[in-house]
Amino acid sequence: MSYLKDEIEQRVSDYDHWATRRRYGPDGPNNRRLWVLACMDERLPVDEALGIRVDSPVGGGDAHCFRNAGGIVTEDAIRSAMLTCNFFGTREIVIVQHTQCGMLSANAGDIEQALRGRGVDIDGLTLDPTLPELKLEPGAFGKWIGMMDDVDVACMKAVETFKHHPLIPKDVTVSGWIWEVETRRLRAPTLDADKRARTDVTSDQFGVKAKQPPRWS
Ligand SMILES: [Zn+2]
Repeated sequence: MSYLKDEIEQRVSDYDHWATRRRYGPDGPNNRRLWVLACMDERLPVDEALGIRVDSPVGGGDAHCFRNAGGIVTEDAIRSAMLTCNFFGTREIVIVQHTQCGMLSANAGDIEQALRGRGVDIDGLTLDPTLPELKLEPGAFGKWIGMMDDVDVACMKAVETFKHHPLIPKDVTVSGWIWEVETRRLRAPTLDADKRARTDVTSDQFGVKAKQPPRWS
């Protein structure tokens, strides 16, 4: 017969190893050796969409998860992916964006103007006060905002960017996915109108007239 004492000892030992994983570098990876890039939107349930458990109670911890507005490629997303893929044992990148994304809902130029209207000095801005070396070229602020014209296009572009980025090892598997908020289903990014039916995937559908600064083309 087995004793509860033995089970508890095993559980305590497993937990200790789980809690101290990062000390082991590539030998202490997250459960699925996975890095997820996702939009910050509250209607995108990462665990449900991908069938994983990112957050932890004990036994969770399937992935390192990075969320930003849009789930788009940014220098900080690249920084995070670089660290986990090179030094923490991650072998796979999964990008998940979603329909009805707020990043389709306005033109970057309008956002820029709104900020100027609030007195923000966009042209003389230090983006990150802890890293003043990080600068945008004059006029690049609108591109930096990263508004999208088409979420499927942005997702496909993000996959290509990580696949070919010099900071990401060549043998890391990269895929991208779209979560349909309307249907609560995951699908591959596509330009097929039938597959995108009944979902809002372009800025045009939000009534945005002007094209975004050309970040995804
Ligand atoms: Zn979003």
